Amino acid sequence: MPDLTAQIDGQMVSLIECHWVLFDPDGCAQASKYGDAAVDETAAHRDFTPRQRDRDRQTRQGYTVQLLSKTQWRKQAGPCFYGTCQHRTATWPI
Ligand SMILES: [Zn+2]
Repeated sequence: MPDLTAQIDGQMVSLIECHWVLFDPDGCAQASKYGDAAVDETAAHRDFTPRQRDRDRQTRQGYTVQLLSKTQWRKQAGPCFYGTCQHRTATWPI
């Protein structure tokens, strides 16, 4: 397998060290997969959301797919998956 690399914040990182993350319009992480599962945002999005119609709708609604380093993942996506992020509480106050 080729050693795919990407640039994050000016640093070259191996895709194997990264995660693709699907963020909803509120910036809340919805799904995550290992960086080497896709070569670019389009491919990663296709993987997260197989149906073209659903992808188009997500794009219209403001969903984004981003490549995060492990450090970024822990900060920006980790809390969403652990249920401790601020995004949901902002939308649905307890
Ligand atoms: Zn969140």
